[in-house]
Amino acid sequence: MIVTTTVQEVRAARRDDPWLTWGLIPTMGTLHEGHLSLVRRARAENDRVGVSIFVNPIQFNRRDDLDAYPRQLERDCELLRTEGVDLVWAPPEDEVYPPGYQTYVDLEQITLPLEGASRPGHFRGVATVVAKLFNVFEPTRAYFGQKDAQQAAVLRQMVRDLAFNLEMVICPIVREPDGLAMSSRNLRLKSDERQAALVLHRALKAAESEWQQGRREAGHLRTTMQQVIEAEPLARLDYVSAADPISLQELAGNAEHVLLSMAVFIGAVRLIDNFVLGGQTE
Ligand code: AMP
Repeated sequence: MIVTTTVQEVRAARRDDPWLTWGLIPTMGTLHEGHLSLVRRARAENDRVGVSIFVNPIQFNRRDDLDAYPRQLERDCELLRTEGVDLVWAPPEDEVYPPGYQTYVDLEQITLPLEGASRPGHFRGVATVVAKLFNVFEPTRAYFGQKDAQQAAVLRQMVRDLAFNLEMVICPIVREPDGLAMSSRNLRLKSDERQAALVLHRALKAAESEWQQGRREAGHLRTTMQQVIEAEPLARLDYVSAADPISLQELAGNAEHVLLSMAVFIGAVRLIDNFVLGGQTE
């Protein structure tokens, strides 16, 4: 497994045999089973697998969140070696954004609601770094998690709009046995907060149960989730949503095909989770 910090070495490996297929998994490190599920899928579908590990400063709108983001590069590389990864790119900040850098990728409507509304500039940072990763790796396929549902929708849109020559593969959310969606941020939860964090999954389950019993009015689904969150003393609701899975616009009336999503602060840690009901987005 090659571990490198430079664009040049990634290019050299990629161009070694241009006919081989490459799967790319962009990450911010501190890897868990969620990331590894993407790696395994990429391993099964491509000749070569590349992983980037970069805590992208321009997608953080809060300095404290960026500073507190966990980092464990050596352990991550060990895990990736075990999974048969071929290439890891872990660049320093100035390799991605050299002095004088001034090019950014901005998407319009799709970045306005949900995470985009709560985290100004977030998707500008995400789209910019992922566009750069696509240009550096030139992957055949790129793997992302449904955990970040809006990110997946935004990046699909970017690939369409800018005609990136690759296939986007969106993989299901991997959860802890008790239902908590895996996230590098879970490491920051204290033990009572770890218990309280189950409220996200509980709220989604409650809304799913209503939906399954035929109570599908979008406003009712939002209220159901909100009430479950508000009953948890350690939780502070950022948003709940019952939206169209493609456009991400909030639904009114009956929600036959719906992305239920939410962001909730548990103490100082902001967690997100979602379910898609009524069939997959793809
Ligand atoms: P991150 O390191 O948080 O930027 O995540 C890197 C990739 O892993 C993103 O495409 C995420 O959506 C995906 N991912 C993170 N957590 C999970 C999870 N629990 N299940 C599936 N994919 C995930």
